[in-house]
Amino acid sequence: MSFQNPVFIPGPTNMPEHLRRACDMPTLDHRSPLFGQILQPALAGVKKVLKSETAQVFVFPSTGTGGWETTITNCLSPGDRILAARNGMFSHRWIDMCQRHGLKVEVVEAPWGTGLPADRYEEILAKDTGHEIKAVLATHNETATGVKSDIAAVRRALNTAKHPALLFVDGVSSIASMDFRMDEWGVDAAVTGSQKGFMLPPGLAIVALSPKAQASVETAKLPRNFFDVRDMMKAYANNAYPYTPAVGLLNGLKQSCDMLLAEGLENVFARHHRIAEGVRAAVRAWGLELCAETPDVYSDSVSAIRTPEGFNATDIVTHAAGKYGVAFGVGLGEVAGKVFRIGHLGSLTDVMTLSGLATAEMVMADLGLPIQLGSGVAAAQDYYRSETALSAKEAA
Ligand SMILES: *Cc1c(COP(=O)(O)O)cnc(C)c1O
Repeated sequence: MSFQNPVFIPGPTNMPEHLRRACDMPTLDHRSPLFGQILQPALAGVKKVLKSETAQVFVFPSTGTGGWETTITNCLSPGDRILAARNGMFSHRWIDMCQRHGLKVEVVEAPWGTGLPADRYEEILAKDTGHEIKAVLATHNETATGVKSDIAAVRRALNTAKHPALLFVDGVSSIASMDFRMDEWGVDAAVTGSQKGFMLPPGLAIVALSPKAQASVETAKLPRNFFDVRDMMKAYANNAYPYTPAVGLLNGLKQSCDMLLAEGLENVFARHHRIAEGVRAAVRAWGLELCAETPDVYSDSVSAIRTPEGFNATDIVTHAAGKYGVAFGVGLGEVAGKVFRIGHLGSLTDVMTLSGLATAEMVMADLGLPIQLGSGVAAAQDYYRSETALSAKEAA
């Protein structure tokens, strides 16, 4: 594997040199006043990225999965009913975690390639007149299928049913690369990690709780210790942690937020959309289909691409790594062997993306797929030429 090539996996993502250096720090005593100068701006920066005025942000040495565990153990009690939809591997794993914690999950099965069915959520919530359902889970961007879901519609479903359940959103592969509006959408818990939109190494779970979710922390009865937000909150008040923080990563997070906010969140989202549209133009030119069934659910951070029947899509990933030193994502769960994934989030430019598309073409041609070399690259080039000219004009 060549370290000079960008990666095209949906996390961990490429790191800007500046952020990589920010994580590489001499030892700093995390009980010294200096630590607060890293911690507080990092927490404040995440809040801005989430577009929240009212959330409390918590950062644990962990990963996105630890963020899920933080959310459920701090807000729920054994036996609580949960509503969730399964439309890919990540929503599946979240459901599995809830079940292993003794929660009763009402699972709505949705075809892999479609978004979360907000209308089904509404029907189920409306029938739950006793308000037994305590939380609704929503995976904003299903990384396994390249499908984004409409979180505002899930919030409307709760409101229309006049249901008080908490809304927990997995934003691991959307936050900091796709539009996310914690307050406007009434999200009660938002979860992400350091290694996707924040362009950092893996190692942090990032969780934000709304005031309503914070209130539920007091009555929740699931056991928690490492992920107890009450200990974290007490420690934060003294610019400290209940244990040893990942200081270098937190410094990276502070600078990552600065970088995202300096580019401007709307510009970050527009860049991801433009890059993704170029990838989708290439997929069309190759004569292949996305796993995402309709344009309204196309993800701007990852594309899962279906390969022809009888072809093992995982071979693309293995061959790309072995022959060209380039990483693409494999298919997971139900779509294993049926799709390969191009991750296009984080620190990426049009030009870097073209190199990934060119590599994918070489790989598919090597493996005997009927791909005309240059066809997808040309389609993306055409798109980027017109779009970049447009955004340069807008910036002027
Ligand atoms: C990557 C990812 C996760 C898991 O995050 P880890 O940091 O690997 O624990 C969860 N949900 C989604 C949607 C993801 O993309």
